[in-house]
Amino acid sequence: MAIFKYSNYLATSKSTSFDQPLQPSSFAPCGGIYRCTGCGTEIASEGIGLLPDRQHHKHAPGVPPIQWQLTVATVATHPQPYLHGAG
Ligand SMILES: [Zn+2]
Repeated sequence: MAIFKYSNYLATSKSTSFDQPLQPSSFAPCGGIYRCTGCGTEIASEGIGLLPDRQHHKHAPGVPPIQWQLTVATVATHPQPYLHGAG
């Protein structure tokens, strides 16, 4: 689980971008922290290009395959292509 110290740097969102499990090697919809829904492994994505592929890490037998779920989206004030957070 992602951790933080200063809550004033985080805000809640109702965006459905946080609800969609994403397939390995699929397009990263925004920069942020993604967690594997199978084992909880977290990664940081710049939001440019693809999420890690299905070989990123191994699961023990019986653990569902890798899918990525957005847990923290970054918000940037830079011009494109960096400004495409989930808001
Ligand atoms: Zn995993």
